Amino acid sequence: MKYLVIGGAGFLGSHLINSLDGEITIVDDLSTVKYFEKKPGINFIRQKIENFETNEKYDYVIDLAARPSPEDYINHPVETALSNSIGTYKALEIARKSDAIFFYTSSSEIYGHAEIIPTPETYWGKVNPNGIRSCYDESKRFSEALIMSYLRQYGLDVRIQRPFNVYGPKLREDGSYGRVISRFIYQALKGEDITIFGDGNQTRAFLYVSDWVEATKKMLGKGLKGTILNIGSDKEMKIIELANTILSMTKSESKIKFLPPREDDPPRRAADISKAKKILNWEPKVNIEEGLKITIEWFKGVLN
Ligand code: UDP
Repeated sequence: MKYLVIGGAGFLGSHLINSLDGEITIVDDLSTVKYFEKKPGINFIRQKIENFETNEKYDYVIDLAARPSPEDYINHPVETALSNSIGTYKALEIARKSDAIFFYTSSSEIYGHAEIIPTPETYWGKVNPNGIRSCYDESKRFSEALIMSYLRQYGLDVRIQRPFNVYGPKLREDGSYGRVISRFIYQALKGEDITIFGDGNQTRAFLYVSDWVEATKKMLGKGLKGTILNIGSDKEMKIIELANTILSMTKSESKIKFLPPREDDPPRRAADISKAKKILNWEPKVNIEEGLKITIEWFKGVLN
């Protein structure tokens, strides 16, 4: 099997490629990558997918390329929007010319300020079309529309995944890029203030990366053409509770510092995963304490 993994050097890709059997080519511009190790036997092309041309044929085109950090939207809104639009178009064209299976990581962000929690795939979303996060959520929504158009017009075998707050080792922690779990772990281990945006009552449901890999491999299987699935957790957690859990697990003396809320920050998010449970016979296995423990240990290793 020949796999083209676009964005394969990032957080999700670096976990996924370890469990794919076959010839793997990664295309990644490394624009958001901090913890990538180039592995022998894997072809690596440093290139933006928007500029990538190839005549190679692949069995699978896996498109993970995105800039998914809300901190990053502020500095790179254009790049964020283009990777989820022109980038997706380029990836789809490669898949169409190869008659490959096309797998795409969309996002729970497409639901915006969801009014149904946990949110099922049938919910259409409530998104600010031109707000600070629109570069990401609207372009992910466009990607989904384009992908379904390739299915309808060309019969391409597409699968759309909507991941919800996946975390684990190799997630970046830096202030202008990191996501909440890696930032809180970093701050706790360094004795810095834990920065909570708003009052901390906003919620997320976190999925450990090995559960994500398992679901993703299942989504690459037979008979799933046109399938759209939430892959996440339904265990909703307040951000303040996450901060306190990390403080106690790291035995940190860091203080919690409340900062102004992020603009358009979704107040609640959790996945309705009943469809994934049924179709993939999958459910998360790693609970938040176990996942945080492994992630904290990994951060202790890299921060020393
Ligand atoms: N968050 C926070 N402090 C941080 C980083 C994030 O309070 O240093 C909050 C953020 O406001 C959001 C949640 O944690 O409500 C998840 O943020 P993240 O950046 O991981 O991504 P999102 O789920 O919003 O896409």
